Order: sequence, then structure tokens, then C-alpha cells
Amino acid sequence: MPPPVFRFAPSPNGYLHLGHAFSALLNFDLARQNGGQFLLRIEDIDSARCRPEYEAAIYEDLAWLGLAWEQPVRRQSEHLALYADALARLTGQGLVYPAFESRAEIARLVAEKGTAGPWPRDPDGTPLYPGVDRLLSAAERAEKIASGAPYALRLDMAAACARAGDLTWDEHGAGPDGETGTLVAQPQEWGDVILARKDTPTSYHLSVVIDDALQGVSHVVRGQDLFHATSVHRLLQHLLDLPAPSYRHHRLIRDGAGRKLSKSDDATGIRELRAAGAGPQDIRRIVGLSS
Ligand code: GLU
Repeated sequence: MPPPVFRFAPSPNGYLHLGHAFSALLNFDLARQNGGQFLLRIEDIDSARCRPEYEAAIYEDLAWLGLAWEQPVRRQSEHLALYADALARLTGQGLVYPAFESRAEIARLVAEKGTAGPWPRDPDGTPLYPGVDRLLSAAERAEKIASGAPYALRLDMAAACARAGDLTWDEHGAGPDGETGTLVAQPQEWGDVILARKDTPTSYHLSVVIDDALQGVSHVVRGQDLFHATSVHRLLQHLLDLPAPSYRHHRLIRDGAGRKLSKSDDATGIRELRAAGAGPQDIRRIVGLSS
């Protein structure tokens, strides 16, 4: 058996907080305990929100916490052509279509369609895409594209699920409702997810499965907020012939009021805690990890 490979994959769109520290330390500890590798991956596909100073701060904060990672660090923004190749494969399978609506148009469609009862929402609480552009003819699509209308690329979820059949994953942690063991993926709960955004030629879901496979990640250890996304990841892994890592979704660190931490909350920022005199062992203790 090759040594296990773990990774911490932050987005440099803010400073790290206690939740990130917990996730990074847990991955690092597991890699060390199991004779494995610990990778750091910078998920910076969102050029509008990611900033070099946040990336620099990630390296600085993780090193201060006592972590060391393999080199080179993979930065997703340097691999857009690879994600485009994967997208082309899915398009070739007839599973991807362009969707031209603006956010406001989608909201209006959802409001119209939702008059008969509440419109279904995805596990993150966002209304499902009402799917009207899936019904455009090839000629209508070509005409809109030729006119220069911007579009996102969406997965035809029903067609993708029909092709994939039932999929499962091995959950070694737990979902928000305690789900653990061999779990059945429910990608249909997400509707026609975006695979490439209007402003970015890829998406979180697409890049994460490609990079995990390419980097040989055997163990995905991440927060419970990404538990449901695993269903989409399993589906994409299947469609792209990628191996399935094992998954461990961990508890989230919450603030005093029980809320999920946010990158803009100074009270739980690693830099703020450091400036206030905390040491790396204090951070471990606060997040409930032994040294
Ligand atoms: N980049 C994602 C985030 O910052 C995490 C991706 C993952 O662990 O799968 O939340």
C-alpha cells in the first residue's frame, strides 16, 4: 500500500481562522500518525475574491502553527487548461449545457415557479436552478453564444445520475446528522450544478475532484460544511474515471454564539490570536486537539 496522502485546501479569500487551523492541524496530525504525506493546495480559481496577501498569510500562519507541507504547493489558477479538458470530456458525454440567465433572472424564474409551493433548495439552502436553458435547442444555443451572451456551463444532473447509477462513499467521520460508514451519494439534491462559471472557466466541484485525483489524495479530511458536496464529487469522479478517496468530515469550530466562523471575524482569526499573545499550543488546545 502506498503511504496515505492528506491535504488542506484553503481558498485565499480571507485570513485563516480557528476552523481552518483545526482542519489543517487534523490533516497534518493524521498524515504524521499514518506515515503519510501532507499537501497544501491553494484553491484560488475565484480571481475576484482571492488575493496574494491572503495566500502569503496562509503560508505564514500554517508555518507558525508548526506545519510543514510537501513542495511545490499546487495553485489551482495555474491549471485552468486541465479543468477545461475535463469539462470537454463531460461535454462530449452530452452532460453539460450552457446556461445564460443572470442571477436576477434565475431568482425571478424561481419566484414564478415557486407559487405553487416552496421551490426546492440544495443542501446549502440555495434554490435549485430551474433548468430552463437545458431545454434550448442546439440552434438557439449557437445563436446566443454567437451573440456574445455570457454563459455558465451546468451539469445535466438527471442525465448524469442516469449514466452513473447508484454511487457510495466511505465516510470515516460523520455528516451533520451523524451519517457515517458506507453512504449513498445523493447528487440530485444539488440540481444542475455549475461546472464552469461565467467569469471562471471552472468551479470548486470540478477542480477539487481533478486535483485530489491528480495529487493522489487518498484521504479527504475537511469540515462538515462540505459533507453534502461529496455527493457531487463522487458523481464527477465516476463520470471522469477518477478514483474515490475516503472521506472524513469533521466537526466545525463555532463561535461563542454557536455560529460557524467567518473569515471576517477578528475574534477567531489566527493572526489576531497570535497578536494577542497566543502560541501554537494554545490554538491546538482551543480547537480541542492534543499536542
Ligand atoms: N477550498 C475549500 C474551502 O476553502 C475546501 C475544499 C475541500 O476541502 O474540499 O472551503
